[in-house]
Amino acid sequence: MMAPVPQSFAPRRDEPLFGRLAIIGIGLIGSSIARAAKDLNLAGRVLLYDRDEAVRQRARELGLGHEVAETAAEAVRDADHIVLCVPVGACGTVAAEIASALKPGAILSDVGSVKKSVVEAVLPHLPEGVHFVPAHPVAGTENSGPDAGFPSLFLNRWCILTPPEGTHETAIARTRQFWEGMGAIVEIMTASHHDLVLAVTSHLPHLIAYNIVGTAEDLAAVTQSEVIKFSAGGFRDFTRIAASDPTMWRDVFLHNKDAVLEMLGRFSEDLAVLTRAIRFGDGDTLHKHFTRTRAIRRGIVALGQEKPETEKLRKD
Ligand code: NAP
Repeated sequence: MMAPVPQSFAPRRDEPLFGRLAIIGIGLIGSSIARAAKDLNLAGRVLLYDRDEAVRQRARELGLGHEVAETAAEAVRDADHIVLCVPVGACGTVAAEIASALKPGAILSDVGSVKKSVVEAVLPHLPEGVHFVPAHPVAGTENSGPDAGFPSLFLNRWCILTPPEGTHETAIARTRQFWEGMGAIVEIMTASHHDLVLAVTSHLPHLIAYNIVGTAEDLAAVTQSEVIKFSAGGFRDFTRIAASDPTMWRDVFLHNKDAVLEMLGRFSEDLAVLTRAIRFGDGDTLHKHFTRTRAIRRGIVALGQEKPETEKLRKD
């Protein structure tokens, strides 16, 4: 597969893509979109809303978007593009809250890390004439909140769109343009396929990180100073991933249960094979396995999703 050519920056548009853009949820992702959309002229007006009063206040102080509304309905009124940037488990509730204020022809989207459950939660509230194009930018950091965002977060990162069958082609094309406008590389797939792929590439690694850091923490009662002192490369990356937002990740696991359990099953079987090889001194099995996995790492580097010298695990 050809690697996409990396861009050094996303150019500012002469004409805005959308008249009004509404962002619900002003955390890492929402505030990054707000910054990029304003800087790059992706929308004439950017309106924001968050349920947390302190976050709304902070967004005003930071000058995010053009206006911070006091209700979600107020933010989305007359908006051409609406992006839900709330935890996966809150997307249905927000969709119900804003449904009656959405104008016909508007494109509703989200950024949730799980897609099938978001589609199921949002579709029943979708008014006639409003298009729904779910999106997942595969980009992020372990930080949360409006201060954590930055406009180049999506540059050269994948953004996966999972439009339900029958979605208007123009709505998909405009959502694609929106993400490409922020420098992302867009791919389209079904929600179920997305959830399966992300279960193994993102959700399972996060679960492993949460688990291993927890195990080390239990151990730390005895040898706390050593765990911190000798936390070399691999473990340090795990601690960074395990510092990810607890609400977001609780929702990811609760809403991608089937795919994660399927991948966990496979993971446990493979781990049993490695455990057995160690127990019986089967170096060939270990060597073959490590050689195979090394090739995967080289494939990721070749696709431009990681620099060879950077040993950090990327987040999404
Ligand atoms: P975040 O920094 O925690 O921000 C989420 C914001 O949404 C919080 O301020 C939260 O307020 C607010 N919120 C929650 N429920 C709401 C509601 N019903 N109405 C209005 N606002 C509400 O989270 P994030 O990292 O930006 O993640 C947002 C979404 O992006 C999630 O669906 C996640 O799966 C997805 N995503 C995240 C990453 C990542 O690396 N972080 C990457 C790709 C996609 P409270 O604090 O009061 O709950």
